Amino acid sequence: MLIIPDKLIREIKKQGEEGYPYEICGFLIGHIDFENDIRKVLEVFQVENQNKERANDRFEISPKDFLKVEDYATRKELAIVGIYHTHPDHPNRPSQTDLAFAQPDMSYIILSVRNGKAEDWKSWVLDDNRFVEEKVKVINS
Ligand SMILES: [Zn+2]
Repeated sequence: MLIIPDKLIREIKKQGEEGYPYEICGFLIGHIDFENDIRKVLEVFQVENQNKERANDRFEISPKDFLKVEDYATRKELAIVGIYHTHPDHPNRPSQTDLAFAQPDMSYIILSVRNGKAEDWKSWVLDDNRFVEEKVKVINS
């Protein structure tokens, strides 16, 4: 399960609308409770989409950005618990590329942005090499 404050959802939606018509992406930072399979998000950290040629339907995170965010999280005694990205004018379902780069024990938030307006989002987790929709709890903050 993913627990995320509503203010961070608003932040992701804002980034998605500002980045439209391109995909934007970033990291979900917080705590992981492996025993109960709960990821709690405390911060979001947007990074540059490295895929410039197909930035409207692909995203790519540089290893340098990954290390930078991991270092940032570690210093705050937090962890990277997932990745968020947008699908401009597409549904919030993971693509084949999303699946190919997915890691276990991470939450993948996908937000659909249509005509520049953030719409619905879902969180996905890997289960046996396929994506299943993750249960989400949005909390007030
Ligand atoms: Zn995607």
